[in-house]
Amino acid sequence: MTKFPPPCSKCGKRQSIYYRPYSGERLCISCFIDSIRERVEKTISRYDMFKFDSRIAIGVSGGKDSLGLLHILSEIEGKYPKAELIAITIDEGVKGYRDEALSLAMKACQQRGIEHLVLSFEDLFHLSMDEVASKPRELIPCSYCGVLRRRALNEAARRVDADRLATAHNLDDMAQTALLNVLRGDMNRLGMMNPGGKTLPGFVRRVKPYCEVPERESTLYAYLVGFEFQSLPCPYAAEAMRTDIRGFLNRMEVKRPGTKFIVYRTALKLIPKIRGVEVRGRCSVCGEPTPNRICRVCQMIMELTEKGQSNKF
Ligand SMILES: [Zn+2]
Ligand SMILES: [Zn+2]
Repeated sequence: MTKFPPPCSKCGKRQSIYYRPYSGERLCISCFIDSIRERVEKTISRYDMFKFDSRIAIGVSGGKDSLGLLHILSEIEGKYPKAELIAITIDEGVKGYRDEALSLAMKACQQRGIEHLVLSFEDLFHLSMDEVASKPRELIPCSYCGVLRRRALNEAARRVDADRLATAHNLDDMAQTALLNVLRGDMNRLGMMNPGGKTLPGFVRRVKPYCEVPERESTLYAYLVGFEFQSLPCPYAAEAMRTDIRGFLNRMEVKRPGTKFIVYRTALKLIPKIRGVEVRGRCSVCGEPTPNRICRVCQMIMELTEKGQSNKF
């Protein structure tokens, strides 16, 4: 007769609490926690993400992924006395939603003694997401938020003099983005999915050390390590196509465990074959790098502000 629950397949001693369908492993609490940290460490070394003395800005939203990554990076940083970790949080200006996440992010940084910079859309663009959502506009709020947040994170990373910008995209995010770009026929975006990032003029190199942690395991990790995180979804989150893809990938993963890894790895194999758009020019309004005369951020702000004037930031 088999004992229930069966023992952990890693240590063979403790009782397992989690079955990992894509590898067939059964893990106890302690081996599961170790496995997530080890996976992040492997991802970091595979893509040579950091130097021993890197100044790493980490985007902390207050959700499970970014707080999990913050926890792991602060542990790893302990081994590298010359490296530094600085948390950055972008306040998009969504009343009721961002406030809670912000206080969770602050608490997590205080507990670990990590410097924390909060920058808001209001500070940078003189426009909050609540205002964007209430204005007549061409696109869904997520489209504006994505473009503005990307700029805001880069700006925040520059302000803290970071040479790396770590974001906590998980495996599900990566697999969804890969399929989304394929379905939209956006080869350029697909080519920008490299988790190790690139050094480009005007941009702090972006790295994604959490990219091989499935969302489900990120949630379990947060519960087991025992930190509070925001679980409320953003009230404006309604990217219809991504929602469809998320549902599809989750169903496929149940039927064929490992599907998300396959999608993600296939996208990575395609990257070297894609010739991206070269960014040589500078935006004539804000001076940031762009392949066009006016960058996407300034175009959006012009579209949204009645005066048709972009704020210089
Ligand atoms: Zn174990
Ligand atoms: Zn611009």
